[in-house]
Amino acid sequence: MTDWTLIYQADNLIQAHCIKGLLEQAGIDVNLQGEALQGAIGELPAVGMSVDIRVEQAKLKQAKQLIQTFENTPQSQWLCQDCHEMNESTFEICWHCGHDPLSEIG
Ligand SMILES: [Zn+2]
Repeated sequence: MTDWTLIYQADNLIQAHCIKGLLEQAGIDVNLQGEALQGAIGELPAVGMSVDIRVEQAKLKQAKQLIQTFENTPQSQWLCQDCHEMNESTFEICWHCGHDPLSEIG
């Protein structure tokens, strides 16, 4: 049985997924609590609900360092031209309306 330990409480689903991706890249299994209640991104509001991020007890120290690095790195967000929502730099299309900013180029 995996011993999940709460490492971080994200402000919203987007932030939770950023951190989840970051940790998984480092080979750390991540468990998100609260995500199941919200459905897929784009269908339901992804903001305004905190998400608990849990990792294996054995990976806690490594995960904490990664999150610290993440928090100290300035995020370059982009503004959706369609619905004027802010998007994380890792998002290729708007989380809110699905708008693709690259489609405007050319
Ligand atoms: Zn949008």
